[in-house]
Amino acid sequence: MVRIDLHTHSTRSDGTDTPAELVANAAGAGLDVVALTDHDATTGWDAAVEAAAQVDLELVRGLEISCRHHGAGVHLLAYEPDPAHPGLDAELARVLEGRNDRLPRTLAKLEELGYPVTAEQVRAVSGDAAATGRPHIADAMVGLGYVVDRDEAFGRFLMPGRPAYVDRYAADLETMIGLVRDAGGVTVIAHPWSRGSRRVLDAEAFESLRGSGLSGVEVDHNDHPPERRVELRGLARELDLVVTGSSDYHGTGKVGFDLGCHTTDPGQLDRLRHGWEQAARDAAQQHRLA
Ligand code: AMP
Ligand code: ZN
Ligand code: FE
Ligand code: FE
Repeated sequence: MVRIDLHTHSTRSDGTDTPAELVANAAGAGLDVVALTDHDATTGWDAAVEAAAQVDLELVRGLEISCRHHGAGVHLLAYEPDPAHPGLDAELARVLEGRNDRLPRTLAKLEELGYPVTAEQVRAVSGDAAATGRPHIADAMVGLGYVVDRDEAFGRFLMPGRPAYVDRYAADLETMIGLVRDAGGVTVIAHPWSRGSRRVLDAEAFESLRGSGLSGVEVDHNDHPPERRVELRGLARELDLVVTGSSDYHGTGKVGFDLGCHTTDPGQLDRLRHGWEQAARDAAQQHRLA
């Protein structure tokens, strides 16, 4: 049986495995195909592709883009786009800038609350990440003894509604779906019915987003209770959207999200692959015409 996991994070965002370690662990977990999908960044692709070639594992190049739809945060998985596409590159740069802008504002709030953390302390734990995320701030707080783990840092300080939460720039969802397609890739909405995005993603929204070029939805994910998965799978079938299942692995950064804990059917990956191959042909033709 072919085992496919299409959503994982490395140290290039907020995971704890380097891209090469992640690939080795994926092979060790018996996976045949793994997608590296760091938040808003593609800097891990080369190292992951190289490592995958050593262990006979297929590496799908992806990323998870921070988007917004009707005011709610939505995470968009993008597979095999050309990161050099000017429009995509510019928009991802804006998102990364938003992450960097947020850091000092979050630290100011923590300071006010009596939990001082310096930017240097955060950078010491974020290492080779393309930009900082809240999990890095959480790790720095663990290091300082303020909290015991990332979960406590989010629960007490960093999630929306908590006193050190700060919003940041996110890309418009429909625009980003189009940009990824123009860049020769395909898109799948990550954990669509997790807390943040459920209210803006009903059947009508999915239908409209499919019209904008969306290929699929991630159904099997730890953030979705089993009965929600049944409902979402039915909806995806009705709308002829690709259905995926994935771990959202973050190394030791997220407990219970182990590699391969959810997987994607090979037929569904084939559909995504046809989609990105077609998108790449269209992008090449656009390029010739331009
Ligand atoms: P950011 O990318 O900076 O907005 O931070 C959001 C990321 O933090 C999410 O994509 C998750 O990977 C991670 N995250 C969210 N909640 C938690 C939590 N309770 N514990 C650990 N990581 C979390
Ligand atoms: Zn993450
Ligand atoms: Fe996500
Ligand atoms: Fe993720």
